[in-house]
Amino acid sequence: MRFFAPCCVLCDAKVTGAISLCEPCLEDLPRIKTTCYQCGLPLESKLEASLCGQCQQSLPPIDYLISSLHYAYPVGYLVSQLKFQRDLTYAKIFAQLLLTTLQQQYKARHSELPEIIIPVPLHKKRSRQRGFNQALEIARPIAKELNIPILVNAIERIKHTEAQSLLSALERRKNLHNSFVFSKPITAEHIVLVDDVVTTGTTVYELATLLKKSGVKKVGVWAVARATISK
Ligand SMILES: [Zn+2]
Ligand SMILES: [Zn+2]
Repeated sequence: MRFFAPCCVLCDAKVTGAISLCEPCLEDLPRIKTTCYQCGLPLESKLEASLCGQCQQSLPPIDYLISSLHYAYPVGYLVSQLKFQRDLTYAKIFAQLLLTTLQQQYKARHSELPEIIIPVPLHKKRSRQRGFNQALEIARPIAKELNIPILVNAIERIKHTEAQSLLSALERRKNLHNSFVFSKPITAEHIVLVDDVVTTGTTVYELATLLKKSGVKKVGVWAVARATISK
């Protein structure tokens, strides 16, 4: 496991900054520009703070979703390096990218930072197989920088869902229903969930619904990447 890579993880060029990506590769990342204010879905429109069609019809259980990148090349590659090679260099890259986006977004929205960060939990079995939770590893440097506590093991994933990515949005929703439970009480008004990639949003919506039922007023999501497919 590398702790510091002096070379760009994509092209091997020498890097000078704190992040293991060279300037040209950083520039080339598929950054999200305009999104739905509520669910974070990338939008074509140049208008800030607009709602997507889906959210205009019914608001999701999350209050906002902030992400840095489209789920497009080379983001899938970077995510797989973190997940399957367990290389924390990638968690640091993601945390840095997300931090920059968060600083811009919170300033633009004039909104308060959350009181608690909860990394999206993995099922124990998956966590054992993988050896770590990538969402937690991405959340760690962010929490440290922003001085916000991370809550781990407060919510347990009780369903071990196999190959979630192969299922349709509807199947995912069915599959994930009642898949989380509290293992200890949470008292906070504003919580943020952290994940690597949000695809349909099913997982974070399920978690947000659970948190809101328990009295949490505001639930946001910070994700490194957001897929364009809508629910
Ligand atoms: Zn490079
Ligand atoms: Zn939306």
